[in-house]
Amino acid sequence: MDLIKVVDVMNAQRMVLLGPPGCGKGTQAKRIAEKCLIPHISTGEMLREAAARETEVGRQAKGYMHAGKLVPDEIMIALVKERLGQADCRHGFVLDGYPRTVDQARSLDAFLQEHGTGLDIVLSIEVDEQTIIQRLSNRRLCRSCGRDHNLVTQPPRVEGRCDACGGELYQRADDDAKAIAVRLQAYERQTTPLKTYYDGAGMLRKIDGNRGMDEVAREIGSHLGCLES
Ligand code: AMP
Repeated sequence: MDLIKVVDVMNAQRMVLLGPPGCGKGTQAKRIAEKCLIPHISTGEMLREAAARETEVGRQAKGYMHAGKLVPDEIMIALVKERLGQADCRHGFVLDGYPRTVDQARSLDAFLQEHGTGLDIVLSIEVDEQTIIQRLSNRRLCRSCGRDHNLVTQPPRVEGRCDACGGELYQRADDDAKAIAVRLQAYERQTTPLKTYYDGAGMLRKIDGNRGMDEVAREIGSHLGCLES
């Protein structure tokens, strides 16, 4: 890598986290957002909120989400354009769960280009299928603060209660075996082609996500200047 490229990567502020469900990208995205002072944009989170508020987008997305299928591109592209157009995204963002198809990636590139910018880096968190299934089926989230726990590897100190805030823990509707299988298939078929897409643009960095979250965060940090403390 030449010096200019290294400096560019160290200043990376517009980023995408790629990876299968359960790879830990939500947790890593939250950390990056806090340290780099940029918004964390999770499209899954946006859709779950829209579904809970019963907005038009929420109503349209609900069925796909429960089945573990991808929500159609037109809905997603409009949702993300609207979000990225907001003032807090002007100096960067970390996208978590978007793009998930090549059409979404192309539209993101076009949108950023229209605004005179582009993505700086795409981090792909790679995890074995068995680890993903174990993580997702044992995952429990806090209704109040969103923190996740794992019943096997990181069980809550008090059963059913969040370690961080004491809130109620719940299981996501799409973390059941049937929906997990559909989500993994969707990732393999529709999202993995993005690795070739971004690799071709010289933006892809692969991270081994089979390790503990602190170790993964350290490796991510080595790619992002804003994470150096
Ligand atoms: P996540 O929280 O990222 O696992 O997303 C939960 C669900 O929301 C997915 O299984 C999809 O149904 C939907 N979803 C989230 N992001 C996207 C996207 N970029 N494209 C299509 N569907 C999405």
